Amino acid sequence: MPEPTTSEPLPAELRALAADAEALANRTAEVAARLKTAPDGNLQRLARPIAKATHDLSEYTEEVSRTAENLARVRVARDPGLCDVPWGICPAHGVTLRAGEDRAWCSVPGCAGEWDYDRLHTPCGERAVAVVTDEDGAAGKMCAAHARDAGDRLAGCTVSSLDHRAANG
Ligand SMILES: [Zn+2]
Ligand SMILES: [Zn+2]
Repeated sequence: MPEPTTSEPLPAELRALAADAEALANRTAEVAARLKTAPDGNLQRLARPIAKATHDLSEYTEEVSRTAENLARVRVARDPGLCDVPWGICPAHGVTLRAGEDRAWCSVPGCAGEWDYDRLHTPCGERAVAVVTDEDGAAGKMCAAHARDAGDRLAGCTVSSLDHRAANG
């Protein structure tokens, strides 16, 4: 039994798992192909469960690869220079995103904003340009679009530009 570890997994670990599974799927597919073309009908019938196993491995690979990408996004979003908001936004239009499984798009007609992951439910990760402080004094770094949205929606909040703060030391 491997030692339980408290350190968080890295995207590279997941990518390695996906690569292993892909190699295994290739070998399994090769066995399925050999069974399928065997002269013995009894062997040919065995190709079906092996083909199914190949398919299951491909799904595993896809799932693990997708998780590796999402993990990388979450880690990037922890960068202190990035927006703190735990959900996504259209950088041009704000809270206009719609999301389906593994994709998201901006609902403003003519906007080219479209993403091949569920951006709406992923930490923002846009460059932070302002600090927004609400009525109770809670502050967060935000990108331009999130700061604009907060300014529109939160009564009594203040938005101060990060450049301005830096200039004042
Ligand atoms: Zn948009
Ligand atoms: Zn943001």
